[in-house]
Amino acid sequence: MVKRWLGRLAYGSRYDDVPWGQRVYVRPGERLAREAQWRLLTRRAPIVSRAAYERTRSLGEIEEFLDCMMCGESRQQPLFEPNGGKGWRYHVVRCPSCGFLYRNPNVRPERLGDLYATGYSNFLTGKYAANRQRRYELTMQAFSPVFDEGKERRLLDFGSGVGLFLELAEQRGFDACGVDLSPESVAQANERLSRARTFFGAPQDVPEIAAGGFDVITLWSVLAHLPRPLDDFRQFRSLLGPGGVLLILTVNANSLLLKAYGSKWSGFTKNHLMFYSPRTVRTLLRRTGFAGVAFAPHYGDTIEAGTTRLPAGLVSRLRRNVRLSDGGNMMRVLAFADEEAIGRYGGGPLTVHRLTS
Ligand SMILES: [Zn+2]
Repeated sequence: MVKRWLGRLAYGSRYDDVPWGQRVYVRPGERLAREAQWRLLTRRAPIVSRAAYERTRSLGEIEEFLDCMMCGESRQQPLFEPNGGKGWRYHVVRCPSCGFLYRNPNVRPERLGDLYATGYSNFLTGKYAANRQRRYELTMQAFSPVFDEGKERRLLDFGSGVGLFLELAEQRGFDACGVDLSPESVAQANERLSRARTFFGAPQDVPEIAAGGFDVITLWSVLAHLPRPLDDFRQFRSLLGPGGVLLILTVNANSLLLKAYGSKWSGFTKNHLMFYSPRTVRTLLRRTGFAGVAFAPHYGDTIEAGTTRLPAGLVSRLRRNVRLSDGGNMMRVLAFADEEAIGRYGGGPLTVHRLTS
């Protein structure tokens, strides 16, 4: 209430109709103010040793304490306590060396299943499905050289859920398959799909996937759920054939919305474990053998689909602030396995950053 009143005082009622998630990008001066606020927060928050940190937190039955997985730093900077108000709450720390944000304590990989109640696949339909598929289409458009035509290229969707993306991939002519850890989702997906197939389990459990040689691997809203990202990405790299690429869509830990709303940020959901920024996703890719990376800013689905009701002046201000600040609340990443992949898909609208170890 106080915040709303302060917002009104600073900006008047001009921005009342702007959706909540877009206001920080369109109110004049707010980007710079939020970035300054973030610098202050990260400079002032205490940095503690892992031993000292462990003394301040109790460990749940399915949890474990972690060091920073991206750089090995053991010190912690406690920053946020997201709280869904429905019986879950966790702690998010920042690595003082590389800036990686992660839940600590985190969830032990073998207990990951405990996070996903049964019936997880039920909400993955209806309006949710339509919105998801629109998001996939817009992201494919942003990386169009890869996704315009499948041409029988082999595609693996990791964490394929009920097959919403695989449906689009088979329509575009990819030779597509998926894996998922929810047996109900896999069953639903295989009913939905005509040519593509999904499998229950990890890639190494399915011989035709374990054989590798993929042209494209996709991770739609999966990265933040991985408890052992380095192991997984080494595996993805080995499953890609020469010239292969990996697509990631995940919440952006450099988002202006996180800087503005802290623990109430929409990216802090119950099942998210780690939160990547353009900087830390580069570290992950470099350490797991990828040769290059490209980013496509995310302006928001309604802006990109042209269905927004924002006036044109505010749309261009939003686009400018997304480009100047964080790249958007979601991060869209294309990782290139090798030089052949960079040669095949780089250039044009995609700026490729080479990853040298
Ligand atoms: Zn680190």
